[in-house]
Formats: sequence, C-alpha cells, structure tokens
Amino acid sequence: MSSEAKVKVYTGTMSVATNRFQNAKSKNLELGYIATEQNYEEGSRGGAIFIIGLFLLPVFGIGLFVWIYALLVKPEGRLIVTYEKIKSSDIDTKECPKCAEIIKLKAKICRFCDYKF
Ligand SMILES: [Zn+2]
Repeated sequence: MSSEAKVKVYTGTMSVATNRFQNAKSKNLELGYIATEQNYEEGSRGGAIFIIGLFLLPVFGIGLFVWIYALLVKPEGRLIVTYEKIKSSDIDTKECPKCAEIIKLKAKICRFCDYKF
C-alpha cells in the first residue's frame, strides 16, 4: 500500500455529496491524487428523536410533529473518498546529459544518442 493516501469526507445527501466530490475531483487530480475508493454512508439519527417524540406525545401532540419531522427530514450522509497519490515513477523522466533529450528515468541507454548511463 502507498503511504501517499488521503481520505476526504463529503457530507450531504447522496446527490449533494457526490456533487461536492465531483467538484473536488479535478483539483485533486491536478495535485496528483486519484480517487481509488468511494463509500457512501446514510446518515442516521438514532433512536433518540423517537424517544423524545414519545415523551412529548401527551403534551399537545407535539411528539407527533417531532416524529413527522424525523421522517421527512433525512439526516446528512457522508461520502468517504480515499485518494491515492499517482506513483511518480510512472511519469518521471530525465534529461540525457549528452543530447539533452527527455527520456524515461529508468532508461539505461538513451534512445536518441545511445548514451549509456
Ligand atoms: Zn541522448
């Protein structure tokens, strides 16, 4: 595994979070990072709001509104994206000291002038 990895979290509904991720994607690519893993987690409100609603139910039926709110308004989810730095060995080049042409870093011999490294 590469140590040059980073994890970004985009919050919102699935479409909002995906939008945020798409917007950041090209910028990350410019920095040499590509998204290798995406994982969306639905937001969860837990059972607390239903217990609150239950307690408020006898009080003017407020609990009912709490429940309706909990059902209609979805909590925000999270889109977790793992980025990995593109291996620099894939793109690295060097300049031939003899003919000044750009050749691959791993080359043992220059393809332009046969200079040996
Ligand atoms: Zn050369």
